[in-house]
Amino acid sequence: TSFGHFGFDEALMKAIRKSEYTQPTPIQSQAVPIALSGRDAIGIAKTGSGKTAAFIWPMLVHIMDQKELAPDDGPIGLILAPTRELAQQIYTEARRFGKVYNIQVVCAYGGGSKWEQSKALEAGAEIVVATPGRMIDMIKMKATNLRRVTFLVLDEADRMFDMGFEPQVRSICDHVRPDRQTLLFSATFKRKVERLARDVLTDPVRVVQ
Ligand code: AMP
Repeated sequence: TSFGHFGFDEALMKAIRKSEYTQPTPIQSQAVPIALSGRDAIGIAKTGSGKTAAFIWPMLVHIMDQKELAPDDGPIGLILAPTRELAQQIYTEARRFGKVYNIQVVCAYGGGSKWEQSKALEAGAEIVVATPGRMIDMIKMKATNLRRVTFLVLDEADRMFDMGFEPQVRSICDHVRPDRQTLLFSATFKRKVERLARDVLTDPVRVVQ
Protein backbone atom coordinates (compact mmCIF):
# COMPACT_ATOMS: atom_id res chain seq x y z
CA THR A 1 0.00 0.00 0.00
CA SER A 2 0.90 3.66 -0.35
CA PHE A 3 0.08 6.46 2.08
CA GLY A 4 -2.70 7.56 -0.31
CA HIS A 5 -4.77 4.52 0.69
CA PHE A 6 -5.16 5.72 4.28
CA GLY A 7 -7.42 8.61 3.28
CA PHE A 8 -5.52 11.17 5.37
CA ASP A 9 -6.16 14.85 4.67
CA GLU A 10 -3.68 16.97 2.75
CA ALA A 11 -2.22 18.57 5.90
CA LEU A 12 -1.19 15.22 7.37
CA MET A 13 0.00 13.92 3.99
CA LYS A 14 2.23 16.96 3.69
CA ALA A 15 3.80 16.28 7.11
CA ILE A 16 4.37 12.63 6.14
CA ARG A 17 6.05 13.71 2.89
CA LYS A 18 8.19 16.14 4.85
CA SER A 19 9.35 13.24 7.04
CA GLU A 20 10.67 11.63 3.87
CA TYR A 21 8.80 8.41 4.53
CA THR A 22 8.33 7.03 1.02
CA GLN A 23 5.94 4.19 1.80
CA PRO A 24 4.17 2.70 4.82
CA THR A 25 6.01 0.00 6.74
CA PRO A 26 4.28 -3.43 6.90
CA ILE A 27 2.87 -2.79 10.38
CA GLN A 28 1.54 0.60 9.23
CA SER A 29 -0.10 -0.92 6.12
CA GLN A 30 -1.90 -3.45 8.30
CA ALA A 31 -2.65 -1.55 11.51
CA VAL A 32 -3.59 1.92 10.23
CA PRO A 33 -6.77 0.88 8.33
CA ILE A 34 -7.92 -1.24 11.30
CA ALA A 35 -7.29 1.58 13.76
CA LEU A 36 -9.04 4.09 11.47
CA SER A 37 -12.06 1.78 11.31
CA GLY A 38 -12.43 2.14 15.08
CA ARG A 39 -11.61 -1.44 15.97
CA ASP A 40 -9.32 -2.65 18.73
CA ALA A 41 -6.06 -4.21 17.61
CA ILE A 42 -3.09 -6.20 18.83
CA GLY A 43 0.14 -5.40 16.97
CA ILE A 44 3.04 -7.76 17.30
CA ALA A 45 5.89 -5.45 16.40
CA LYS A 46 9.29 -4.31 17.60
CA THR A 47 10.92 -0.90 17.81
CA GLY A 48 12.09 0.05 14.33
CA SER A 49 8.94 -1.33 12.67
CA GLY A 50 7.26 2.08 12.42
CA LYS A 51 4.65 1.09 15.04
CA THR A 52 4.67 4.55 16.65
CA ALA A 53 3.29 6.31 13.58
CA ALA A 54 0.89 3.37 13.09
CA PHE A 55 -0.93 4.45 16.25
CA ILE A 56 -0.20 8.20 16.23
CA TRP A 57 -1.81 8.88 12.83
CA PRO A 58 -5.14 7.17 13.65
CA MET A 59 -5.09 8.83 17.09
CA LEU A 60 -4.83 12.26 15.43
CA VAL A 61 -7.73 11.46 13.07
CA HIS A 62 -9.78 10.26 16.08
CA ILE A 63 -9.07 13.45 18.01
CA MET A 64 -9.93 15.69 15.05
CA ASP A 65 -13.26 13.87 14.76
CA GLN A 66 -14.28 15.04 18.24
CA LYS A 67 -12.58 18.37 18.45
CA GLU A 68 -15.63 20.28 19.72
CA LEU A 69 -14.76 19.17 23.26
CA ALA A 70 -13.20 21.59 25.74
CA PRO A 71 -9.41 21.63 25.31
CA ASP A 72 -8.62 21.79 29.01
CA ASP A 73 -10.53 18.74 30.08
CA GLY A 74 -7.91 15.98 30.09
CA PRO A 75 -6.46 13.97 27.21
CA ILE A 76 -8.47 12.21 24.47
CA GLY A 77 -5.53 10.01 23.47
CA LEU A 78 -3.43 8.25 26.12
CA ILE A 79 -0.29 6.24 25.34
CA LEU A 80 1.36 4.13 28.04
CA ALA A 81 4.99 3.10 27.50
CA PRO A 82 7.48 1.19 29.70
CA THR A 83 10.41 3.63 29.88
CA ARG A 84 11.31 7.28 29.83
CA GLU A 85 13.32 6.78 26.61
CA LEU A 86 10.44 5.17 24.74
CA ALA A 87 7.94 7.72 26.10
CA GLN A 88 10.17 10.53 24.85
CA GLN A 89 10.54 8.93 21.41
CA ILE A 90 6.76 8.59 21.12
CA TYR A 91 6.38 12.18 22.32
CA THR A 92 8.72 13.42 19.57
CA GLU A 93 6.74 11.57 16.89
CA ALA A 94 3.38 12.71 18.33
CA ARG A 95 4.58 16.31 18.40
CA ARG A 96 5.87 16.16 14.84
CA PHE A 97 2.49 15.08 13.45
CA GLY A 98 0.25 16.66 16.13
CA LYS A 99 1.61 20.06 15.11
CA VAL A 100 -0.32 19.72 11.85
CA TYR A 101 -3.60 20.16 13.76
CA ASN A 102 -2.31 22.21 16.66
CA ILE A 103 -2.81 19.20 18.94
CA GLN A 104 -0.95 19.52 22.22
CA VAL A 105 1.12 16.61 23.55
CA VAL A 106 2.51 16.18 27.08
CA CYS A 107 5.00 13.54 28.23
CA ALA A 108 5.16 12.31 31.86
CA TYR A 109 7.67 9.73 33.03
CA GLY A 110 9.24 8.48 36.25
CA GLY A 111 12.45 10.31 37.12
CA GLY A 112 11.30 13.62 35.63
CA SER A 113 10.09 16.59 37.65
CA LYS A 114 6.59 15.94 39.01
CA TRP A 115 6.03 19.64 39.39
CA GLU A 116 6.94 20.44 35.76
CA GLN A 117 4.94 17.52 34.40
CA SER A 118 1.87 18.41 36.46
CA LYS A 119 2.04 22.04 35.28
CA ALA A 120 2.26 20.88 31.66
CA LEU A 121 -0.74 18.58 32.15
CA GLU A 122 -2.77 21.29 33.86
CA ALA A 123 -2.15 23.56 30.87
CA GLY A 124 -4.08 21.01 28.80
CA ALA A 125 -3.17 18.47 26.13
CA GLU A 126 -5.18 16.27 23.80
CA ILE A 127 -2.47 13.57 23.90
CA VAL A 128 -0.56 12.31 26.93
CA VAL A 129 2.38 9.92 26.65
CA ALA A 130 3.27 8.45 30.05
CA THR A 131 4.91 5.67 31.95
CA PRO A 132 2.22 3.87 34.00
CA GLY A 133 3.45 4.70 37.52
CA ARG A 134 3.88 8.38 36.77
CA MET A 135 0.47 8.56 35.08
CA ILE A 136 -1.13 7.30 38.29
CA ASP A 137 0.87 9.84 40.34
CA MET A 138 -0.40 12.62 38.04
CA ILE A 139 -4.01 11.46 38.42
CA LYS A 140 -3.65 11.31 42.22
CA MET A 141 -2.22 14.85 42.17
CA LYS A 142 -5.28 15.87 40.10
CA ALA A 143 -2.98 17.26 37.40
CA THR A 144 -5.01 15.31 34.85
CA ASN A 145 -7.84 12.78 34.58
CA LEU A 146 -9.02 9.93 32.38
CA ARG A 147 -12.61 11.09 31.87
CA ARG A 148 -12.18 12.13 28.25
CA VAL A 149 -9.86 9.31 27.10
CA THR A 150 -11.42 7.42 24.18
CA PHE A 151 -8.26 6.22 22.41
CA LEU A 152 -5.85 4.17 24.53
CA VAL A 153 -2.51 2.71 23.39
CA LEU A 154 -0.48 0.22 25.41
CA ASP A 155 2.95 0.24 23.78
CA GLU A 156 5.52 -2.50 24.41
CA ALA A 157 3.11 -4.26 26.75
CA ASP A 158 5.58 -7.10 27.36
CA ARG A 159 8.23 -4.64 28.55
CA MET A 160 5.72 -2.82 30.75
CA PHE A 161 5.10 -6.16 32.47
CA ASP A 162 8.86 -6.87 32.73
CA MET A 163 9.20 -3.50 34.50
CA GLY A 164 6.52 -4.53 37.02
CA PHE A 165 3.84 -2.15 35.71
CA GLU A 166 1.06 -4.72 35.35
CA PRO A 167 -1.03 -3.41 38.31
CA GLN A 168 -0.69 0.20 37.13
CA VAL A 169 -1.55 -0.67 33.52
CA ARG A 170 -4.61 -2.62 34.64
CA SER A 171 -5.72 0.11 37.02
CA ILE A 172 -5.52 2.74 34.28
CA CYS A 173 -7.43 0.52 31.83
CA ASP A 174 -10.12 -0.04 34.48
CA HIS A 175 -10.59 3.71 34.84
CA VAL A 176 -10.89 4.56 31.15
CA ARG A 177 -14.43 4.47 29.78
CA PRO A 178 -15.25 1.01 28.39
CA ASP A 179 -16.45 2.29 25.00
CA ARG A 180 -12.91 3.47 24.18
CA GLN A 181 -10.77 2.19 21.31
CA THR A 182 -7.68 0.30 22.52
CA LEU A 183 -4.51 -0.69 20.67
CA LEU A 184 -1.93 -2.98 22.24
CA PHE A 185 1.59 -3.38 20.87
CA SER A 186 4.07 -5.98 22.05
CA ALA A 187 7.23 -7.55 20.63
CA THR A 188 6.21 -10.91 22.12
CA PHE A 189 2.81 -12.34 22.91
CA LYS A 190 3.25 -14.50 25.99
CA ARG A 191 0.61 -15.62 28.43
CA LYS A 192 0.55 -12.49 30.62
CA VAL A 193 0.15 -10.18 27.64
CA GLU A 194 -2.43 -12.50 26.14
CA ARG A 195 -4.42 -12.33 29.38
CA LEU A 196 -4.20 -8.53 29.45
CA ALA A 197 -5.37 -8.41 25.83
CA ARG A 198 -8.35 -10.60 26.71
CA ASP A 199 -9.23 -8.34 29.65
CA VAL A 200 -8.82 -4.88 28.11
CA LEU A 201 -9.51 -5.23 24.36
CA THR A 202 -12.86 -5.79 22.66
CA ASP A 203 -12.91 -8.20 19.71
CA PRO A 204 -9.39 -7.21 18.59
CA VAL A 205 -7.84 -7.74 15.17
CA ARG A 206 -4.34 -9.16 15.38
CA VAL A 207 -1.57 -7.92 13.09
CA VAL A 208 1.99 -9.19 12.88
CA GLN A 209 4.96 -7.12 11.73
P1 AMP B 1 9.31 3.04 15.51
O1 AMP B 1 9.33 1.56 15.23
O2 AMP B 1 7.94 3.59 15.58
O3 AMP B 1 10.14 3.39 16.70
O4 AMP B 1 9.96 3.78 14.24
C1 AMP B 1 11.31 3.58 13.87
C2 AMP B 1 11.82 4.71 12.97
O5 AMP B 1 11.24 4.60 11.68
C3 AMP B 1 11.50 6.09 13.46
O6 AMP B 1 12.67 6.87 13.36
C4 AMP B 1 10.43 6.60 12.51
O7 AMP B 1 10.51 8.00 12.36
C5 AMP B 1 10.75 5.87 11.24
N1 AMP B 1 9.57 5.60 10.38
C6 AMP B 1 8.30 5.43 10.75
N2 AMP B 1 7.50 5.18 9.69
C7 AMP B 1 8.29 5.19 8.61
C8 AMP B 1 8.06 4.98 7.21
N3 AMP B 1 6.85 4.71 6.71
N4 AMP B 1 9.13 5.07 6.37
C9 AMP B 1 10.36 5.33 6.87
N5 AMP B 1 10.64 5.54 8.17
C10 AMP B 1 9.63 5.46 9.03
